[in-house]
Formats: sequence, C-alpha cells, structure tokens
Amino acid sequence: MSRFWSPIVHSLTPYVAGEQPATGDLIKLNTNENPYGPSPLALAAISQAVADTLRLYPDPTALRLRAAIAESFGLDRNEVFVGNGSDEVLAHTFQALLNHEEPLLFPDVTYSFYPTYCRLYGIKFREVPLDAEMQVRVDGYRQPCGAIILPNPNAPTGIAKSRADMETLVAEHPDQVVVIDEAYVDFGGMSAIPLVRKYPNLLVIQTLSKSRGLAGLRVGFAVGQRPLIEALERVKDSFNSYPIDRLALAGAIAAWEDRDWFETHRALIIASRERLAVALKELGFHVLPSSANFLFARYPGKSGEDLAAQLRSRGILIRRFSGERISDFLRITIGTDAECDGLVAALREILG
Ligand code: PMP
Repeated sequence: MSRFWSPIVHSLTPYVAGEQPATGDLIKLNTNENPYGPSPLALAAISQAVADTLRLYPDPTALRLRAAIAESFGLDRNEVFVGNGSDEVLAHTFQALLNHEEPLLFPDVTYSFYPTYCRLYGIKFREVPLDAEMQVRVDGYRQPCGAIILPNPNAPTGIAKSRADMETLVAEHPDQVVVIDEAYVDFGGMSAIPLVRKYPNLLVIQTLSKSRGLAGLRVGFAVGQRPLIEALERVKDSFNSYPIDRLALAGAIAAWEDRDWFETHRALIIASRERLAVALKELGFHVLPSSANFLFARYPGKSGEDLAAQLRSRGILIRRFSGERISDFLRITIGTDAECDGLVAALREILG
C-alpha cells in the first residue's frame, strides 16, 4: 500500500532488467551473458568454499580479491574497490562522487541505470547527445558540470572511443570526477586504467559478469586514486559490510587469475561477433560497429518491437529499448556460433 511508502519511493523510475526465463530451451541473447560460462578453476574454487566456514562472515574488505586485481594492473590494493556486481559499485559511485551543484553529464543513449540512480540519490543530470553515427562526442562535454560518467564501449550501441579521447575528457575536467564504465572493454575497447596513475579525477569501473562469465556471482570493481576509493569505502561501510560473500570471493579470485580461460573465450566471442555482424549485414541490417559482446542493429523499415516479438515466438530472446532514437534497434548478445546461426535463420524466415 503506497500510503506506507517513504516519499522518495513515489518518484523512483526503477531499472527494468532483461528477462530471465524459467525454461532453458530458449536461445538467450538478451542480457549480455557469456555463452561459455566461468573458468572451471572458478567453479572448483567455489565448490571448495562450500564448507562449514560459511558460518563465518566473509572478509569485509575482500583484501585477497582486491590484491589480485591491483597486482594485474600494477596498482596498490588500496586503489581497488569491489562490490556486488558493477551495478552496486556504480550505485555507490553515484552517491559518493557524482552528486554536485552542477549537473552530472552522460550520453543521451547509454546505460539506462544512470538516470535511475540519479533519481534515487537526487542527482541533477544533463544528457549529451550522441552524434549522427551514434558516437560519443567528446567536445559535447565541454560545458559546466558537476561530474561525467559514460561507458566505454558505450551501451547499448557497443561503439568504443579511443583511449586518447577518454584522456581528453579526463584532462579537460581536472576539477570534476570522470567515471568510465568499462563493463564491455575486454571485447575490443582500450581500457583507461593505465591513466589512473596520472589523473586523480579518473575512476574506472569493470565487472566479472561479461568477459569472465560470472554474471551470476555478482562481482564488479572500481580503480582510482586513494581519495576516490576512500569515498566509495565510506559509503559501502555505511550500507553493507559484506557485499562479497565467501563463495563470490573464492570464485572471483580464481576467475581473475585464470588468464588463459579469459583470453581464449573473449577471442571466441570477438570472432563470433564479427561473423554475426557479416551475416546480419547480408540480411540487410544496419549494424553499428561493436567493440562489445553484443551487436546493436536495425532493419530499415521494420519495427524493432515487431521483430523482437517474432523472434520471441520462435524461442529467441534479444533486448530492445524504447528510447526515441533506438526503439527500432535490436541489442543482440553474442552467443555461441550455433546460437547466432539460429538467430540468423529465424530472421531470414521472418524477413522472407
Ligand atoms: N555497466 C553497463 C554499461 C552494463 O551494461 C552493465 C550490465 N547490465 C553493468 C554496468 C552492470 O553489470 P554487473 O552489475 O553485472 O557488473
């Protein structure tokens, strides 16, 4: 009964996550999961952690995981913050670092959780339009602002900007925090993490959900210089002492350390993406150039809603968004080649 709600609850616009169907016999290309699953070493580590020690709380600082991540980037463990999925890291970032007098800037077409967090935390924001090619325009951010956040590659377009472009953005705003959400960077983007040493205003966020195949374990992280990380820790320790449970800690560390699994499977996904892009273009789709584990594509003259419904009736799930410029686009997660072939066959049938 809404009369019991705190006033702010009336004004929220909750994020709507992609469908997680109960049955397993669908081709599921709707939530950017990894078709190959996690490293077997991660699964073994999680099994080992299923033990009597689950009666004990986990390490509230997740020190071993932070140390493993820090070491791989040549950073200090105190320059790494971990959370329950990068969504939680993002939520703490919005609250700890992005709420200022001037508005927060982000692209008009981007991860739709950003405006949701703004409403939750009462953050003013202004959207910066993508250009005609659906690319982020770095010069669009040359305006007064409180902070900046954007994904690179952007979502749901999949288009990546160069590290030089990201550095321009960070260097042009020395008095504002610039957050780069690199959820998809391992599929062809250039990470901004090597810039962290140079820029005290840069925070980079990544996740183990996509390129490590661990969406179900919920582990994400941020890297940045100490004052930014300390802000996140202050919010986290005012919210939940133990966001990373014992199973997640064990699995995430093992997954992080299995470089071979990571390299092999991200290469497979990149190859399948290029193969699927060619097949979709042959069918007549307009396909944006993707550096992510998904494609963003539309068929000229066809309603995206219609195509999505026809795929759904053939047991194929893709994601669609209702924003003005993107409502006819399909966001298609890269599955195995067999799944992608199933999608192409269904589309060929639908399009006649
Ligand atoms: N950032 C972007 C751009 C995303 O698309 C997603 C996935 N929905 C996330 C962050 C969050 O991913 P996770 O919480 O699984 O780390």
